[in-house]
Amino acid sequence: MSTLNSEIQYLGGVGPKRAALLRSELGIETFGDLLHIYPFRYIDRTSITPIREVRGELAYVQVQGTIVSSTLVSKHLSVIVDDGTGQMEMVFFKITKWNVERLKPGSAFLFFGKPSEFNGRLNMVHPEVDSPVVGGADSKGTLTGVYPSTEKLKNGGITGKVMCKLQSAALAMCLPEIKETLPDYILKENALVPLAYAIRNIHFPADSYALQKSVRRLKFEELFFLQLSLLKQKYIQSRNSVGLPVNKVGTAFNDCFNALPYELTGAQKRVIKEIREDMRSGHQMNRLLQGDVGSGKTMVAVLSALLAVDNGFQSCIMAPTEVLAQQHYANICKYLSPTSVRCALLTGSSTAKERREIHAGLEDGSIGMIVGTHALLEDNVLFRSLGLAIIDEQHRFGVDQRAKLWSKGPGGIPPHVLVMTATPIPRTLAMTLYGDLDVSVIDEMPPGRKPVKTAMISDAKKGSVYNFMRKQIALGRQVFVVYPLIFESEKMDLNNLEMGYEEIVKRFPDPDYKVAIVHGQQTAEVKNFNMAAFAAGRAQILVSTTVIEVGVDVPNASVMVIESAQRFGLSQLHQLRGRVGRGADESYCILVHDYKTSAEARKRLELMCNTNDGFEIAEEDMKMRGPGDLEGTQQSGLPIKLSIASLAKDGLMLNEARVYADKVLDADPKLELPVNKLLADELRKGKYDIKDYSKIS
Ligand code: ADP
Ligand code: MG
Repeated sequence: MSTLNSEIQYLGGVGPKRAALLRSELGIETFGDLLHIYPFRYIDRTSITPIREVRGELAYVQVQGTIVSSTLVSKHLSVIVDDGTGQMEMVFFKITKWNVERLKPGSAFLFFGKPSEFNGRLNMVHPEVDSPVVGGADSKGTLTGVYPSTEKLKNGGITGKVMCKLQSAALAMCLPEIKETLPDYILKENALVPLAYAIRNIHFPADSYALQKSVRRLKFEELFFLQLSLLKQKYIQSRNSVGLPVNKVGTAFNDCFNALPYELTGAQKRVIKEIREDMRSGHQMNRLLQGDVGSGKTMVAVLSALLAVDNGFQSCIMAPTEVLAQQHYANICKYLSPTSVRCALLTGSSTAKERREIHAGLEDGSIGMIVGTHALLEDNVLFRSLGLAIIDEQHRFGVDQRAKLWSKGPGGIPPHVLVMTATPIPRTLAMTLYGDLDVSVIDEMPPGRKPVKTAMISDAKKGSVYNFMRKQIALGRQVFVVYPLIFESEKMDLNNLEMGYEEIVKRFPDPDYKVAIVHGQQTAEVKNFNMAAFAAGRAQILVSTTVIEVGVDVPNASVMVIESAQRFGLSQLHQLRGRVGRGADESYCILVHDYKTSAEARKRLELMCNTNDGFEIAEEDMKMRGPGDLEGTQQSGLPIKLSIASLAKDGLMLNEARVYADKVLDADPKLELPVNKLLADELRKGKYDIKDYSKIS
């Protein structure tokens, strides 16, 4: 057995007890695993700032000094440090046994953190604490790695210093065994340093240049293999699946197209072309269509469906809620009126008689296009010849459901699949999460759209919000007021909403004003009735929970008031805001927040005020929360674990890696050439497989 695979407990200085800790805290089983735990930052021994020169506005600094006092104040530990040039306070809100015992007067430490000034006094909140640097730079180089750690590790004696020693020991034993994972030609073409060099220098950098080279090499490797694995899967998939032939453009498409009341945007045209190329390629289409709210995805869906119809196939559009399905149906009927295509609506509330007729029409082929909810997935819904399945708002559907649609194609051949989403996903994440889908993006809004003016306001100033609403209503506009789900219990949420409703009704009394209310506890009938009242302009204000989040289109609504806005995530705020700004009028989004708003939530609200670009918001969301926490993926985190690269921060390199992986596969799709043997071997280990796509939708 190789040393790399030796159990970690046999490394000098570890033993069974520490081995158990390393396993439970960092997932380390072997020497090799240890070497794959990289420092997340480095202490530069040459740059220690004298306290005299520290200023509150400086970014991160290191200071080194002796503790002169250490006091437990009610909720924090206050430590005063003196370095001979001045004194500064270190504040620890998390008081641990470890801190209290170690941070004693008389002992010296190196502190790393962000300085701030409070009442004219300098301090650092929660600095990282390391042993002091003695006698300047040592011979091993000036950069010392700081490893990820936990309270348990520290208490178990695995301090930063010990970690460095363990890494050094493991490296000494394993370095000769570290085998290159990338073929020579790839190293050369991408100017990458060898793996052994990178591993040595990521732990113990010879200098900052060596470190930089090593980081690049390790990140590139990770992203490259990830993309190689995804793209290889896709190559195989598209080679295997037969696609229904959608070749010609016929009368249904042309009749609809020629009667359009507007010109398609450049982005819509481009995407329709991409879809058309896909559907006539001879392979099954599996495409994700991303487009911000209001970018005009419905039109793209309709024209794609008509392409299928013109080639003798049926198509279906599936929406996540009944309200949305109805709205789609109404819109689509309008678009289809210049054609002779018969369209139907199937939802949970279709009557038995309607169902019978629809089932029959689908089976004999007289219904060319059907719009519906999950009801479409039922086993007794059979098509004569389903050629295209369109799924709207995909994050609400699982992959199982996608698979169910696959099985409804004619003669066992799966229909083409178009998945539409208005939740912009950062490109880097989409490339990874939807490795099995091609991605089209509508990145252009129909002309004449004005950005929604957005402001945040404290709930203490609600009066001004009501005044503003009155003015807009006087201009003939309508207003949404949305409440979040606050309590765990549905009943309490409803109370909260109803209290808000009563308040609004009091401020906007009958008969001058009509206020409608919509929430999840109402029957479909009541919900539709109230929704319709608002859509038709019979009510000026709609009070609701987030049920109106997706899709609903009321062009005359110009104001979106979001209550307790601090409780919403960025992408949800963006979705909600997308409900206004659909007409030509100036429109507004008012984010009402209360005194409990955290700094982080404030940052989210500020971002909303500063941009209307869904992709920018999604990127920021990912940076603020990390990719594993993005809405829609949060239940399960990312389906793959990376050791050094970050999907949020290394977007450029991810792109570079993807392009290069594509080039490699283009020359050798199955990685069979001898030069690529290393690549095939590495993929076979399975580290880069994303097995369970259902986890991410
Ligand atoms: P979404 O992408 O959010 O589903 P929709 O398809 O509902 O957007 O379109 C939003 C609105 O924009 C609709 O009222 C639609 O009629 C209109 N629209 C779509 N495409 C265009 C276009 N090219 N020019 C002008 N208006 C358009
Ligand atoms: Mg839509």
